[in-house]
This record gives sequence, C-alpha cells and structure tokens, in this order.
Amino acid sequence: MGTTPPFFRLSLELRNRIYHFALLNQRAIFTQSAVQLSVSYIQLSGVYERQAAKNLCWLLTSRRFLEEGLEQFYQHATLDRCSIVRDAKFVSQDLTLDGKTSVFELGRVRAANLSVTMGKTHVVRKDNTRYNVIVPRGKERFDSVDEDFGALGRAIVGLEACGLRELKLHVHLFRTTPGIGRLLGTGSWGGDSDGDSDEDEDDDDDEDEEYDSDDTYTESYWNRYGTNLSKPSKVSGYIADFSFLKNLGTSWEKVWIQYTPTYMERYWGDEDPVAANVLAVPIIEESLAKTAKELVGGKGWALRDSLVDESLSATVWVLDVERKGKAEKTGKLEHVGLHSYLAPCDKCRQREEKFRREPAEDGMVRFVGEDCGAVVEFETPVFFGQEGGGSIVAEQ
Ligand SMILES: [Zn+2]
Repeated sequence: MGTTPPFFRLSLELRNRIYHFALLNQRAIFTQSAVQLSVSYIQLSGVYERQAAKNLCWLLTSRRFLEEGLEQFYQHATLDRCSIVRDAKFVSQDLTLDGKTSVFELGRVRAANLSVTMGKTHVVRKDNTRYNVIVPRGKERFDSVDEDFGALGRAIVGLEACGLRELKLHVHLFRTTPGIGRLLGTGSWGGDSDGDSDEDEDDDDDEDEEYDSDDTYTESYWNRYGTNLSKPSKVSGYIADFSFLKNLGTSWEKVWIQYTPTYMERYWGDEDPVAANVLAVPIIEESLAKTAKELVGGKGWALRDSLVDESLSATVWVLDVERKGKAEKTGKLEHVGLHSYLAPCDKCRQREEKFRREPAEDGMVRFVGEDCGAVVEFETPVFFGQEGGGSIVAEQ
C-alpha cells in the first residue's frame, strides 16, 4: 500500500527496538480467572514506573502496534505477582479493546519470578509426638494473598495453552521478634515475657506459649507472631512439605529456587533458635529439591545447588533444576544446611554480626563471629522423637 505510515516503513528490527524502549520498565496488570496478575517487561533496577496500564495505552492505537508490541512484550514478559480478586471494585482497569477482555494473556508468558513466605505451625500426631511444620504464610495480613499459589494454579490449569517454562522462586521464612508484637500493641507474646527480647538458647520460659496458641490462620495467631521455630528440646522434629508448589503445574523446563534461611533480614526478625535451624534447614532444602524435580516433570532432571555468600546477609542457598529426558538424572545436593546466620553479638555488642559455621568436634556445633571472633558453641541438637509414622492431626 502506498499509504503505509512512515513508522511501518522502518524495518521490523528497528520497530522492535522502538517497542522495546516503549516497554522498558513497564508492567501489564490484568485479571484472569479471579487472579490479578502483574507481568513485567525488562525492569532496570531502581526504576519503578507507576501508571502501569496508562503507560501502555499506545498499544491500542493501531492493530499493528498491538500485534507487534505484544510480540515484543512476550519476549521478556515475567509474571512477578499475583493476588486473589475478592472484589471486582478494587481491580485495576485492564487494557482492553472491547471493554471486557484484557489484551494480555497469561498463556503467552514464559517466565515467572515469584516469592513465597513460609512460617510454621504445630501438629501433634496420634502417638502424641509434636512437630513444627513449615507452611505457607501471608494470608494473615491480606486475604488477597495467594499464599500457596492455589488461585494462580487454577488460572494456569484453565489455560488453553500455557507457555510458562522458567520459574524463579524466592522462599523466605517469616520470623519476628517478640518485641515487635509488643510494639505494634497486637497482644502478648505468651504473656510471661518480661521484656527480655535477646536471643537466648537456654531460656525455656516459652514452653507454654509454644503450645497453647491457637496456631491457625487467624488474627490471634498473627498477633502472637508464633512463626519462629521451636527449640529442638520442645518438639519431636520438623516437617517441610513443599508439594503445594505443584499448584504451579509441572511443565516447567527450568526451576530456580533461592532459599533464604533464618536470621537473614532484620525486618523479619532474628529470634528463632540456631539449634532449631541446624536441624530444620536441611529438611526444608531437601523438600524444596524434591518438589523442584516434580515441577520439571519428575522424570529426568539436572540438578545443582550452590551458596551465595553476601556480606550483609546470611548465606543464601540456590537450587537450579532443569528438565531432562527420562533416562537422565544428574546432580545431587551438596550445600544443604545452615552455614551462617546473623545475630546480635554478646562479645562486641554489635546488633547484627555474621556467624559462620566451622568444623567442631563430635557432638558439637560451632559458629564463629566474623568480626570479633566470638564463638557460639552448643551440643549437636537431637530430636526427642523420630520423624515419620502416625498420621498428622492438627492440635486443638
Ligand atoms: Zn562480635
């Protein structure tokens, strides 16, 4: 046609370059199957664009813009947030041609970068053994939080074609300090805490509060901040089961999981016992690895784990699992365990010092403060009971 607008006389390569800059740092927010999804194009760090939908209005100015612009968008589109839609009134306006259907589709997105916050709950088995169970958390604060990806999973299952192939998942354990509960005025921390919020391995005055809380997804639970792990002497063991992640489907080609062990970020608190983490962290990591293999189809895989040692945080564990043919099952876990943690230091009085695990004699666990050399040593924690056996009954 002789009337082709000048823009479309540019080569496709140049047009794509222009689309790229128009899309940079932008995100699409749209609703599908009762979940509101946030899908971002390439995000430069430190740049945050508001007005997501408005910024992308140019897509609607011509059919050809829409087709080519979306093509470019999906080259780098990453699902990075989802929330349950409780009330259509509060949903952002979708970008639509017909006033109803979003121009964006989850089915065309290839990558997801999601995070999941975990806490603990208690279970008591019929034989009266007590366990800490690591469970998804987050709904306590906002009921739109899709904490176990159940709602997102239903949206994925409902897709005619699903292009999701690469999953990045950040796993945190939620922890707070007793002091925070008091500061927020949200009720007591066991009622018998006497203002001593320092870490204390031998402090056993929390025996009652460990078990008398109504430890469910309720406001009172949230108020009690009971998500820290119990000391090994108080439980029969720790149980982690990440199979809920299979809500995200099992056709991923690559799964990358970053697990941030305890004592990580000041905001999340730092009050749960090191001894508990010495035992629980490997259990959590092994469960994540088991589920990651299933997320890539459960037939063949290549797996590796590694550590990221950042100066301002405890050591982070990273797991990479890639889908392979049936016959191929390569790699094993080599870095599981609690390697370091951040905590206040009794010796040099730093508020947050990094303690690294070092080899110790049989029966002992030793961490050494990176800055002042303070040694924290304790006996290798043991469970009273044995993991496994008996069905789990929730404590009343
Ligand atoms: Zn120190």
